[in-house]
Amino acid sequence: MDDMQLLIDLHKDGMRQGPGGAAETRLAVTLSGLRGQRHLRIADIGCGTGAATLVLAQELDAHITAVDFLPEFLTELERAAANAGVADRITTLAQSMDALSFKDGELDAIWSEGAIYNMGFEAGITAWNPFLKPGGILAVSELTWLTRDRPADLQAHCDNEYSHVDTASAKMATLENQGFSPVGYFVLPAYCWRDNYYRPMQQRFSGFLAAHGHSDAAKAIVAAEEVEIDLYERNRMFVSYGYYVAQKRGD
Ligand code: SAH
Repeated sequence: MDDMQLLIDLHKDGMRQGPGGAAETRLAVTLSGLRGQRHLRIADIGCGTGAATLVLAQELDAHITAVDFLPEFLTELERAAANAGVADRITTLAQSMDALSFKDGELDAIWSEGAIYNMGFEAGITAWNPFLKPGGILAVSELTWLTRDRPADLQAHCDNEYSHVDTASAKMATLENQGFSPVGYFVLPAYCWRDNYYRPMQQRFSGFLAAHGHSDAAKAIVAAEEVEIDLYERNRMFVSYGYYVAQKRGD
């Protein structure tokens, strides 16, 4: 089994594939001003197994297209949507976020939690902007510096793995330059990382290693996750996910 398949195997049983929380998705919904609007069309891009998709389906009068390039995650999402009684409000779409088939002006809102970095914040916003109606909402969470200065090892790791990490003011400037007005911003608290993402993943480690016969490749994946968790624990005052809610201008 290759590394990608191993990563899918470790993460597909998770409620989420990155830091976040239902209360935080609901807060972004509140900031978006979409509550009370009817028949919304929303895309959740890089949806994973659907942590945010399910909240959107429950909170809004909306049809949500849940997009991810991994069909294994979409299968889990479909199962969870059926269990939650919202399957009729969700369509899954196995597609890459840099080649989406939405029509121009088709969407009232684009959601994307912990995924836009795969394209890069600016590239993602530029590519997805046309799909939104004027006045449409963009809600994205993105790794963000919380301070002006930070430890050298953290800077080096992030330069390597997430080269677009920046301060909230820089991200907001990007949003403004790409035709959006920021309408809300908040930082994901530590429990979104620890209780909602890392601890459940750590609880899956032993079953994952056993399922793969404690192979070197499986052990390397667990070790890499542990390095990331340790890095977060030592540096959580310097970095977190920022949640950006912005409105496309021109309505
Ligand atoms: N939004 C989910 C998942 C975040 S993890 C959550 O918060 O739990 C990032 C997700 O982006 C993964 O599900 C991964 O499969 C997906 N992804 C990565 N690159 C992608 C691409 N090029 N196109 C579509 N999805 C992608």
